[in-house]
Amino acid sequence: MKILSVNAGSSSLKFTLFELPEKKELISGTFEKIGIGNSFYTIKLNGEKIKREVDLKDHSFAVKYLIEELINNKVIDSLDDLDGIGHRMVHGGSKFTKSVLITDEVISEFEKCIDLAPLHNPANIIGVNAFREALPDTPEVAVFDTAFHQSMDKEEFLYGVPYEWYEKYGVRRYGFHGTSHRYIYKTICEKLGRDDLKVISCHLGNGSSLCAIDSGKVLTTSMGLTPLPGVMMGTRSGDIDPGIIPFIMKKENKSCDEVLNDLNKKSGLLGISGISSDCRDIEEGIEDGNERCALAFEMLCRRIADYIAAYNNKLNGADVITFTAGIGENGDLQRERIIELIKSLGVKIDSEKNKITIRGAFDKISTEDSSIPVYVVPTNEELMIAMDTYDIIN
Ligand code: ADP
Repeated sequence: MKILSVNAGSSSLKFTLFELPEKKELISGTFEKIGIGNSFYTIKLNGEKIKREVDLKDHSFAVKYLIEELINNKVIDSLDDLDGIGHRMVHGGSKFTKSVLITDEVISEFEKCIDLAPLHNPANIIGVNAFREALPDTPEVAVFDTAFHQSMDKEEFLYGVPYEWYEKYGVRRYGFHGTSHRYIYKTICEKLGRDDLKVISCHLGNGSSLCAIDSGKVLTTSMGLTPLPGVMMGTRSGDIDPGIIPFIMKKENKSCDEVLNDLNKKSGLLGISGISSDCRDIEEGIEDGNERCALAFEMLCRRIADYIAAYNNKLNGADVITFTAGIGENGDLQRERIIELIKSLGVKIDSEKNKITIRGAFDKISTEDSSIPVYVVPTNEELMIAMDTYDIIN
């Protein structure tokens, strides 16, 4: 079966076409700057990358070019060859606990969650509608970033705030990166031949979150109502004292939205280093003797280590720690430092193996006598979306 995995943003649309159940990637690509001028798309096919500049007035144009590319490159013979489309949907609120077949009712329920993700959810709907118009007979499936975390207990997902905020407005921890954490959990269970593992999953990219999973159930996760809290990230602050917000509003004569923008886009590695949100730049800065880069690096690692220690307690002793995403898969220096910072748990890194494990590779990076084994597990949210779609339409 040929299943298309789609991630639609406000001005972009990413896609990967898979052959399932073989899990073979046939073609992938990204449409960028949709509706904002100078638009273009890139596609990856048979190891080759092609870029085309085209006028993408809205998402329906991206879908039109996408279908043309699939047919012209003989990836499919006709639209009938496309068996299903899976969409990444950001915020499913409390309504969606798993992936679902998209119907009008699903769309209207998802629209009710727009309040919770005003930037992301409308873009997801635009993506779904563009495909529904072009391919009305192809089944579409919604895969939510929040769904996996819906298994959290109330004691974990509630904040210590007036209970009415939860009842009236749905103020609670939702968590994100759920599709990635679920994929990591599934993969590590398959690799180790178990289905009852207690896992601390560390998804460390531009956005980062940790998740404590026991036998497939999420005990807790570090992001919240929004993807701002938790560990320090590329440009996001992670956990802060909320009192900072009105304090800075007064000091800098800023609106609440402006301060929130600072916390989302000007904080984290970028805010501390003053140079970059990218770990590779931070590492270069450290080599050049930049003290603020060294500070940013250390803060990032300490925040992550603290969460791991807390989640080990939450799990009453984890069986496995996993690292994934850009930093988790590539950042050997970060992994080494984070593991050094949890040595009180008896976790030990195999420095040689850690150095040579890079993106795309599954490997164990802890020593044989480490109290908890540590693995690098490459994530693949696109494949997880396609696999859910395959399961649902079958
Ligand atoms: P996103 O969260 O946008 O999907 P990624 O998961 O691709 O991002 O992670 C991007 C981050 O991965 C970059 O900001 C960069 O800091 C980090 N990264 C990529 N390669 C390396 C590397 N070799 N060493 C350290 N960090 C890396």
